[in-house]
Amino acid sequence: MITPVLPTYARAKVAFDRGEGARLFTPEGEAYLDFGSGVAVTSCGHRHPHLLQALIEQANKVWHTSNVYQMPGQEKLARQLIENTFADTVFFTNSGAEALECSIKMARKYHSATGHPERYRLITFEGAFHGRTLATIAAGGQAKYLEGFGPKVDGFDQVAFGDHDALKAAIGPETAGILIEPVQGEGGIRPVPPQCLRGLRELCDAHGILLVLDEVQTGVGRTGKLFAHEWAGITPDIMAIAKGIGGGFPIGACLATERAAVGMTVGTHGSTFAGNPLGTAVASAVLDVILKKGFLEDVQQRALTLKQKLAALKDSHPTIIDEIRGSGLMMGIKCKVPNTALQAAALDQHLLVLGAGDNVVRLLPPLIVSDQDIAEAVDKLDRACKALEAKA
Ligand SMILES: *Cc1c(COP(=O)(O)O)cnc(C)c1O
Repeated sequence: MITPVLPTYARAKVAFDRGEGARLFTPEGEAYLDFGSGVAVTSCGHRHPHLLQALIEQANKVWHTSNVYQMPGQEKLARQLIENTFADTVFFTNSGAEALECSIKMARKYHSATGHPERYRLITFEGAFHGRTLATIAAGGQAKYLEGFGPKVDGFDQVAFGDHDALKAAIGPETAGILIEPVQGEGGIRPVPPQCLRGLRELCDAHGILLVLDEVQTGVGRTGKLFAHEWAGITPDIMAIAKGIGGGFPIGACLATERAAVGMTVGTHGSTFAGNPLGTAVASAVLDVILKKGFLEDVQQRALTLKQKLAALKDSHPTIIDEIRGSGLMMGIKCKVPNTALQAAALDQHLLVLGAGDNVVRLLPPLIVSDQDIAEAVDKLDRACKALEAKA
């Protein structure tokens, strides 16, 4: 018999009903160290007092009005984003996939509005993940997500990750832009080298096409900068964000330059729920925390601690761990055993980690994680590796 909740997830047999900082608690009161943050969502940890206050204050005022009225919460959040990024304008969404949908539509509309409606195709990369809507599974191009859902939405040309010649060859008269994650998340924590991101920027400028970044997972402090592309010293034309910006409240956004947004005039796009006052209040509070002087420097410092400890872990367990890679607090452990085995062994140690493509275990702790939490997590991973070695 089918489960009451549509069975599209293979869920771990554990539930949580309370959280605090970097920890989640079961109804029985057992603590788990949360190194997944959902999937990079609870950027400020659980029950952060500033976020809690923002949500409660807003909940006491109004929950929903509509995008047919002025939205002061959206204006405040948009200004915070604009003041701290390349963007001139922001469209709010409820999720990452919707932020990508807006980005894809905007890239197409830009060319249409500037006299080139034939330019509607986006170049994407193998191993990419952009969401689960019909357009975003086409953009991601992964057979396992496309299978059985009818014809793939047209307009996406996929090239191999890191294949510069294939990329150049893929740019044609119908190309609207290039869509890429600065670090592939679901694909297995595969960072795009900074010089490659700079190369993409140059390529886009040379061909008059748009650079569209998917920073849904890498954004909002995850890599130690507010956005991952800052490490390369470039800016995109359009950028999708979500996950960490809401700190646990569902909200996403499509950020753009004034030039790229030229076609997005009244009536061209919309959403009933998006930019909801509760969501924008919490997201503004998240940015207050992350943009506070010294916060991102602290993230970088703790990221370095994590990286060093993981390097030592790899040396201690050469039959389990193949490689450590990633950026900031977005780290991947490429395994020699099935990544699901290490993930399960970590769960036994009450450590929550995530799987990813390329047989990788993903670590995405909340950005407020302490050095002590990191030491504890790596201890738990060490014990998990030992348990796997004892079984082998
Ligand atoms: C999670 C994710 C998405 C999709 O976000 P949803 O909120 O699940 O729709 C898109 N792109 C990247 C890089 C992601 O990690």
